[in-house]
Amino acid sequence: MKNIFLPEVFVDTVFDIDLQDLSQNGVKAFIFDIDNTLATYAMPLPDEKTAEWIKMLKDKGFGVFFASNNDEERVKTFAESVDVPYKAKALKPLGKYLKKACKLMGVSPGETALVGDQLFTDIWGGNWLRMYTILVNPISEVEDSFVRFKRRFEKMILKNYR
Ligand SMILES: [Mg+2]
Repeated sequence: MKNIFLPEVFVDTVFDIDLQDLSQNGVKAFIFDIDNTLATYAMPLPDEKTAEWIKMLKDKGFGVFFASNNDEERVKTFAESVDVPYKAKALKPLGKYLKKACKLMGVSPGETALVGDQLFTDIWGGNWLRMYTILVNPISEVEDSFVRFKRRFEKMILKNYR
């Protein structure tokens, strides 16, 4: 059986996601983590390249949703700047709000790619619901102590796979 902490795909950044490949795998929508996936913790807004890329996804007909465990103020500001629906305090890896996000976008979890930088929140949560999980390299090394603590265990899991 597939390891529940391992993603379907590893990419360096979100820009390296192969949209054609995803479409062929039946993916119709994306749920993105924000912090260290789309921007650093310190960036209140997406940079121009990221904002344009998100717009391009929407123009191509993909559903887009942001699910972050960070607080309402951070997530709202970020998401509203690119007009994307969101859930702050999303409690990943729990599936409750991820499932709700799929419902809102009119897709099943199996038709949704979950994109994030952390195995024990993003990837675990996505795999639990059998989403198509995509792990990105964290954008910045600046992280709080709990995230750094988890990174040690991520490294142990990932060392055999990348
Ligand atoms: Mg993150």
